[in-house]
Amino acid sequence: VPQGPPSISTDTCTGISEAFKADSHPEKILLGAGAYRDDQGKPYVLPSVKAAELQFVNSGLDKEYAAITGVADFVKAATKLAYGADSAPLKSGSISATQSISGTGALRIGGAFLERFYPGTKKIYIPTPSWANHGAIFEDSGLEVGKYRYYNKDTIGLDFQGMVEDIKTIPKGSIVLLHACAHNPTGIDPTKEQWKEISKAVKEGEHQVFFDMAYQGFASGDTDADAFALRQFIKDGHKPILAQSFAKNMGLYGERAGAFSVVCESAEEKANVDSQIKILVRPMYSNPPIHGARIAAEVLTNPALNKQWLGEVKGMADRIIKMRALLQDNLEKLGSKRDWSHITSQIGMFAYTGLTPEQVATLAKEHSVYCTKDGRISVAGITSGNVKRLAESIYKVTG
Ligand code: PLP
Repeated sequence: VPQGPPSISTDTCTGISEAFKADSHPEKILLGAGAYRDDQGKPYVLPSVKAAELQFVNSGLDKEYAAITGVADFVKAATKLAYGADSAPLKSGSISATQSISGTGALRIGGAFLERFYPGTKKIYIPTPSWANHGAIFEDSGLEVGKYRYYNKDTIGLDFQGMVEDIKTIPKGSIVLLHACAHNPTGIDPTKEQWKEISKAVKEGEHQVFFDMAYQGFASGDTDADAFALRQFIKDGHKPILAQSFAKNMGLYGERAGAFSVVCESAEEKANVDSQIKILVRPMYSNPPIHGARIAAEVLTNPALNKQWLGEVKGMADRIIKMRALLQDNLEKLGSKRDWSHITSQIGMFAYTGLTPEQVATLAKEHSVYCTKDGRISVAGITSGNVKRLAESIYKVTG
C-alpha cells in the first residue's frame, strides 16, 4: 500500500489546530474548528442535553442493538423537526427515513443510494466552495462530482446569477447538492426570494435535489426559519433527499446522531426505499449508535426539554451574531477603510473574511491568530475577551 497524501495540512482545521497547539503565545486565538465554544472559549454541553442524558441514564435502559434504521423515536422526531409537523409528505407517510452516523453518514448513505438507484446522470453538483468533505464522500460513493458557482469573491457574497445559470445548464436530470442553511464555508445563504428562483431552476433542469442540513437552528436561532429552503422545495413539488446532523444544534458532535431521508412519490414507494436502505446499511455498519439518538429523541419529544433546547439553540446563534457585530465594530473603530459588512450579513458558524492566503499566513506568524488558508474564520472561536485583539490583528494585516 503506497503512503497517501497527508490528510493533515496547514489549510485544514486539524492542521491549524496542530500549529495552534505548538504556539506558546499566551493570547493565541484559534478560529478553525466548526464546533461551538462558549464566551470563555470552552466546549459547551447544552443543559437540555445533559438533563435528557441524566434522565435516561438513571432509568436503567439497556444497551441492546438498535434496528438497522436506528432508534425509531429519534428518526420520527428528526424528520418532524426538518419537514415540519404539518408537512404533506410526512402526513401521508411517504418519507423514508433512517438514523445515520451523524451528517457525514447521512451524506454517505445518500451517495450510495443514488449510485445504486438514481435513474439519471450519476453526477452530483456541489457549490464552489463547499464543505471540504463533500467531494470525497460522493466520489467514494461512486458518483461523479461536478461544481456550480456559488461564491463571488469580488462582492464577498453570493454569485446568485452564476449559480442559477449553472443549475440551468448542467445536464438534465443531474443531482444538485444544496446547503439548507448556514453555508459552510462561506456563511452566505440565498434569500427567501432567491431560494424560490433556485427551486425553479432545479425544476427546469429536472434535477434531483439533495439538501445537506447540518446547522438547523444554528443560522437564525429558529429551527423552522432555517428549514425554509427544504420546505419551499417540497411546496414546489420537489422530492428532496435530506441529510441531517445533530452535531451542531445539540452539541452532540462525538455522539454521531444524524438522519437520512428520502421524500418518495407514495407510501408504496417509501416501503420500497425503506427496504433498500436497510440492504445498504446492513453491510456498512449493521446499525447505528444509540446513545446520542436517545438523547436527541428525548430533547425533541419532551415538551419542557424541547422548549429549553430551542432557547439554548437561540442562545448559541445569538452569541455568534453578537461576536460578528463586535468584530465588525472593532474593525471600524480602528479606522479600517475596508467594508466589513459581510461579517454581519453572513450567518452561521463561519465567516468568509476575504483575507488572502498571505494575510492568513501573516496572521498566524505575527499575531498567533489561526484560521484556514481560504480566510474562513469560525465565529464560535471569538469571545468578548479576544475580539479586540483579533480585530487589531486583522486590521494590521489588511491595512
Ligand atoms: N455538512 C456540512 C456542511 C458540515 O459543515 C458538516 C460538519 O462540519 C457536516 C455536514 C457533517 O457533520 P457531522 O458528520 O459531524 O454531523
